[in-house]
Amino acid sequence: MSYRIGVGFDVHQLEEGNSLILGGIKINHIKGTVAHSDGDVVIHAICDAMLGSLCLGDIGLLFPDNDSRYKDIDSKFLFIKVLEEVYNKGYKVVNIDVSLVLEKPKIQSHVFKMRKKISEYSANIHKNIKKISHNDISIKATTNEKIGYIGRQEGVACHAVVLLHKI
Ligand SMILES: [Zn+2]
Repeated sequence: MSYRIGVGFDVHQLEEGNSLILGGIKINHIKGTVAHSDGDVVIHAICDAMLGSLCLGDIGLLFPDNDSRYKDIDSKFLFIKVLEEVYNKGYKVVNIDVSLVLEKPKIQSHVFKMRKKISEYSANIHKNIKKISHNDISIKATTNEKIGYIGRQEGVACHAVVLLHKI
């Protein structure tokens, strides 16, 4: 089988005084995510999509939130670990598509930085493995039309789809 596909979804609560990190970029906002790690829903959803594509479980299984090693961890390290698993299983990422759902703030001006940042993360795997180009990492964002927990700015959610190809 040469192609595999996976879907990922993540939600974090938003509270005043916490930091908001999305796609590896710190965004100035009155509210930030409540989390055991840095609460980066974008990276978490991508990790789950990669794990899902290979039937490897989910990040909750790999990095339990009651494990003190993962307290406040930079999600970059989770991403690198999961991507290493992908390569160890003999696959590479073809492309990633992300849909962020949050009411505020507008993140359009940060999207390119997020795509570049995730591409940079992927350069850390192995010197012989090409990094994922930012042109193969799509990040879109939408509001929840003021409806529900996202609309009330109580949380942020993220969906991701990843396509893998056998190396
Ligand atoms: Zn998460």
